Amino acid sequence: MQHLTPTLPGAREVFRLCVSSKISTAKLAALSQHEEPVVQAADRYEQACRAAALHKLDPKSFRPDSDDAVDDMIDMYNRRMRGLEHPGRPIYERIKNLQPKCPLCGIGRVRQVDHHLPKSRYPYLAVAPVNLVPVCGDCNFVKLDQIPASKEEQTLHPYFDNVEDERWLRAEFLIHKPDNGDAGTVDWQVRFFVDPPDVWDPQLGARIIHHFNVFHLAEVYEAQVADELDTLGFMLETVFDGGGCEDVRAHLLDVAHQRTRPRQNNWMTALYEALAASDWYCSGGFTLVAAG
Ligand SMILES: [Zn+2]
Repeated sequence: MQHLTPTLPGAREVFRLCVSSKISTAKLAALSQHEEPVVQAADRYEQACRAAALHKLDPKSFRPDSDDAVDDMIDMYNRRMRGLEHPGRPIYERIKNLQPKCPLCGIGRVRQVDHHLPKSRYPYLAVAPVNLVPVCGDCNFVKLDQIPASKEEQTLHPYFDNVEDERWLRAEFLIHKPDNGDAGTVDWQVRFFVDPPDVWDPQLGARIIHHFNVFHLAEVYEAQVADELDTLGFMLETVFDGGGCEDVRAHLLDVAHQRTRPRQNNWMTALYEALAASDWYCSGGFTLVAAG
């Protein structure tokens, strides 16, 4: 999970921008009465994000009374903010282009903007910039319109949660040797998991585990591994020829350390540490893995 520190316009500024053109006088009058509730909703939401208390926000207090007004709020996003040639589109583009890689998984390319709390349940947050996050298609697809029921069920918010102060992403390299002793047919697997540090509040660890599960990050990272190990295997042959198992281990740890920049909790660091911890891999297993 990547922490972002964007400078975003306020909810009032965006609301006014969205209704600044391509709108009838009657519609402008109807929408303008919701400006103040939208601004207050964004303020309450931001405070809750900072306190990891989104589960305490009652959806009923984030929606207008009438269904027509709810539709107006959602349409404000779908058309007036996301629609091409509409006045709020530059804000949508600005958020979508905050960075190329998805901050929720760190792997996928950003394709769209996601409502951290869904606009269907919290219509007054439909165009609040603090509730809009750049994401990849996969993360947006799996998240759906879930809302947190407890502190532990809050996925990490890229603008408010920075969990890079400690290591929590780990991996282990597992081998399954066949019963017949055929060393050439060993199955292997890299398993990624969350290992929250002891110094953390247990609820933060639980939130990261929840985030990890919601976005299927173990599978996402495992899908990256095969190509990496193919290339790595051939390179390690040279290292092994020079200094054997311990040189291979030292090389892997060196790469793991290099990969801690800019973020220490990334799948590459976890992978290389896991490989370095495997005597089987460092002793020549890397050739079988690369060939497999
Ligand atoms: Zn993603």
